[in-house]
Amino acid sequence: MYIAQLSLKDFKSFGGSHELPLAPGLTAIVGPNGSGKSNLLDGLRWVLGEGSAGRLRVTRQQDLVFQGCAALPPAKEAEVALHLRDERRRATVRRRYDAEGGGTIFVDGNRFRLQDLEEWKRLWHLEGDRFAFIGQGEVAEVIHQRPLQRRLHLEGLFGIDVYRKKRDEAAER
Ligand code: ATP
Ligand code: MG
Repeated sequence: MYIAQLSLKDFKSFGGSHELPLAPGLTAIVGPNGSGKSNLLDGLRWVLGEGSAGRLRVTRQQDLVFQGCAALPPAKEAEVALHLRDERRRATVRRRYDAEGGGTIFVDGNRFRLQDLEEWKRLWHLEGDRFAFIGQGEVAEVIHQRPLQRRLHLEGLFGIDVYRKKRDEAAER
């Protein structure tokens, strides 16, 4: 599986529409400080369901929307689309945010809830030990975690946290 394209529209510093086609294999993104490298990764995290403003490096969701620059006015909504491909399949995940409606996620045009997206990610092995984001400063964070936090973190990486969630949901009923 590989990311065939990441498209950003008015997401963070990417005012207007931007398409980033990618090839299979290793990709390195280089650029000066503040040019948007980390914002690209935030877009990738966000479209894959990240909900924590802190992990997206903003204080509120609204800050994900392009705030304008000398050449462009501020936008009202942000959108990120991720195109995935493997030998047999292709799929598009799209996430949109606007101040009125909040956020919406579509997979191949069908509206998904966050839980649906989590299940769907499993089909593409976008979970567990085959896929991880390691952000700046996160190695130190893991070192300083308390044992329970670290266990939850590892369960997430191994993809077994979903069973804990299901058990907890079943216990609530
Ligand atoms: P570094 O090399 O320092 O890690 P970087 O390339 O990772 O830099 P980013 O953190 O991706 O840089 O980009 C930071 C820039 O994005 C800042 O200039 C910030 O003002 C801008 N930015 C973030 N959110 C928005 C927004 N909603 N609208 C406009 N600009 C934004
Ligand atoms: Mg950065």
